[in-house]
Amino acid sequence: MMPSAPPTIDRDQYLPHADSMHHHHESSMHSQLDIRQRAYTKIVATIGPASEKPDTIAELIRSGVDVFRINMAHGGPEEQQVLVDAVRGVSEELRQPVAILVDLAGPKIRLGEVANGLIHCERDAEYCFVDGDYAEDPHDLTTTYEPLTSELSRGDSVMLADGTVMMQVIDKQPGRVRMKVTQAGDVRSRQGINLPGVNLSAPAISVTDHMHAIWAAKAKVDFVSLSFVRAPDEVKALKDILRSSGSNAGVVAKIEKREALDRLEEVVAASDAVMVARGDLGVEIDVAQMPIEQKRIIRVCHRYERPVIIATQMLESMHESQRPTRAEVTDVANAVLDGADACMLSGETAIGRFPVKAVQMMNRIAQATETAIPTMMWRDSDRADYATRHAVTRAVVSGAGLMAKQLKAKTLVVASHSGNTALAMSQLRNLVPTIGVSSEESTLRKMCLYWGVTPISGAPAQDMQELIRHADSWARATGLAEGGDRIVIVGGSHLTAGPEHNEMAGGVHDVVVVHEVEGD
Ligand code: PGA
Ligand code: MN
Repeated sequence: MMPSAPPTIDRDQYLPHADSMHHHHESSMHSQLDIRQRAYTKIVATIGPASEKPDTIAELIRSGVDVFRINMAHGGPEEQQVLVDAVRGVSEELRQPVAILVDLAGPKIRLGEVANGLIHCERDAEYCFVDGDYAEDPHDLTTTYEPLTSELSRGDSVMLADGTVMMQVIDKQPGRVRMKVTQAGDVRSRQGINLPGVNLSAPAISVTDHMHAIWAAKAKVDFVSLSFVRAPDEVKALKDILRSSGSNAGVVAKIEKREALDRLEEVVAASDAVMVARGDLGVEIDVAQMPIEQKRIIRVCHRYERPVIIATQMLESMHESQRPTRAEVTDVANAVLDGADACMLSGETAIGRFPVKAVQMMNRIAQATETAIPTMMWRDSDRADYATRHAVTRAVVSGAGLMAKQLKAKTLVVASHSGNTALAMSQLRNLVPTIGVSSEESTLRKMCLYWGVTPISGAPAQDMQELIRHADSWARATGLAEGGDRIVIVGGSHLTAGPEHNEMAGGVHDVVVVHEVEGD
């Protein structure tokens, strides 16, 4: 017998105007993608000098950006507040929810100033890390991490310039650590330093990070990520800071240290979402192990139902080029097939020459690939025991997902106060476009990170009949369904009740309705 092909769905069945999609091209600027032209996979774009003007922000949103990342390694609260205001302003103008992710630098160590800004490190040449922030000798290097010379030991590896330059510690004296270059290359001022395998005493959340977190809370951003996470407690500490500042932002753990991989399940469980931060991860561990670790991280995130973002160098060559390399296109496609919830652009949108084209390209690759995602690849029985959702909600969500598939429903409508039920639906990956309805702006913005979920603002319905009427009009307004099409609606019998009105954990969803959209 022939082995059966992996189960896939012809996505065209959900895309009544598939034709226009095929002709969608970089040149079609100024046209807003409608829901059917946006990938299920979410796009995170880092904002920077190349993308911070409101016009560009608008263009990026129209081209498929769901989440903007603001990198706190490059500027303080005052500068970054301008970006927050710009994104919020444009999002309101376009009437399109967009999330903001503030990325905290964490214990990142950088070089100080080097002589003339650039040094060529020859093989076997010797350099020293010295204390303080100024060095006379061009072979003496300073850093932003005060206790560095006392925490390095003979034999430790020091990686510079994104891992292209390697040194090894050969001698240590108080305030001075001597190193020999084992891999030659150029090093520039203020570049990051990676010390794989070295136990640093640096706190996970520095005084600066703490200040930035409090600002992020006040700025009402949607997600805050922590760099170089080593332990679940660090994630919880950030969550505590945010909560005590009145923020409900999701905490994103950036996986870029061996220590985090060693405690992956605990770190994932402590987080609201996860980032595979390949830039530093590929230096902190053997880069050859990175693709497998990426897949393992995604798998664990699926078991815990945490959205996972794949980051760094996804379309790297588009810094300078209008077209990505074949390898980059394949990297994005493989991330989508692995089950990533979101793909991220870094320098491509922050400082690159073609930020809008990079987003359009990422959207097109994701969309072209999604038809081949093995559907229902994560079964309920594989889920971690850690369950934040009520058993009834879980059953209703997976049942509704199956019904929508079997009935070839054009859309699933999930009314979700906190967004958790929309997230549960997203995690099924059933390739039926999901409309996540909430009256909470902050919930709608969180949904921007949830795979396959389109957030739509709606007042809480008084009863099921009203929810059905609303769902009918949303499905038609979005173009997802027309007269005669079926849609599946998930709700609760106490539709207006948020979690606090419900005895059972988090507003139980206990109703599934199959509705036939009325003819025009
Ligand atoms: P960064 O994080 O860009 O803040 O370093 C992402 C990564 O390391 O990949
Ligand atoms: Mn990083």
